[in-house]
Amino acid sequence: MSCSIPQETIDQCIAFHGHSCPGLTIGIRAAEYARTRLNQDGGAELVCVTETDMCGVDAIQFLTGCTVGKGNMIHRDYGKMAFSFFDRRTGEGVRLLLRPESRQDIDAALAPRQRALDEQYTPEGAAAVAVLRQQLQDRFMTLPLDAMFEAQPLQQGPPRPAKILESLTCEACGEKTMESRTRRFAGQTLCIPCFQAREQKI
Ligand SMILES: [Zn+2]
Ligand SMILES: [Zn+2]
Repeated sequence: MSCSIPQETIDQCIAFHGHSCPGLTIGIRAAEYARTRLNQDGGAELVCVTETDMCGVDAIQFLTGCTVGKGNMIHRDYGKMAFSFFDRRTGEGVRLLLRPESRQDIDAALAPRQRALDEQYTPEGAAAVAVLRQQLQDRFMTLPLDAMFEAQPLQQGPPRPAKILESLTCEACGEKTMESRTRRFAGQTLCIPCFQAREQKI
């Protein structure tokens, strides 16, 4: 079953992200899953935990309203193509893991061509890579959602809403810094860049 999100909305999503790419389509389909299966009445208070920071996150932010700035999009830097969605009202949700078989045959053809292109640019090489990337994108937009993602039960409840923490003044640069992001070093309270600068000198 092809993607059910209207083309006009997808075009706006591509404009938001800046280009059309396979990664974005993964995010579009994950957002479609959340919109159609977790937010059927439109009233869900969705929270997304993404385990990657690649292109697809932009689609999820644009299409679900889960955004980093609002605090209902949380990035866990695990480098996995997985997105968990929670409805805060009910505590229900799902972890969507991209099925490797959804792409592995195209990846197998794409990877050596991409490596060759990275080493030496040729117009033919670039065209071959573009064709394969388009194939991957077309497949992602037409696969049934259940063939694209493995829907797993959640291991834990939704993350707690962010607390407002006190700000401390960095003793090196004097800038206000959220307490949980400060470091102690040689008896001083420092922000992360100042801490890193001092630590590297030792
Ligand atoms: Zn992209
Ligand atoms: Zn500082």
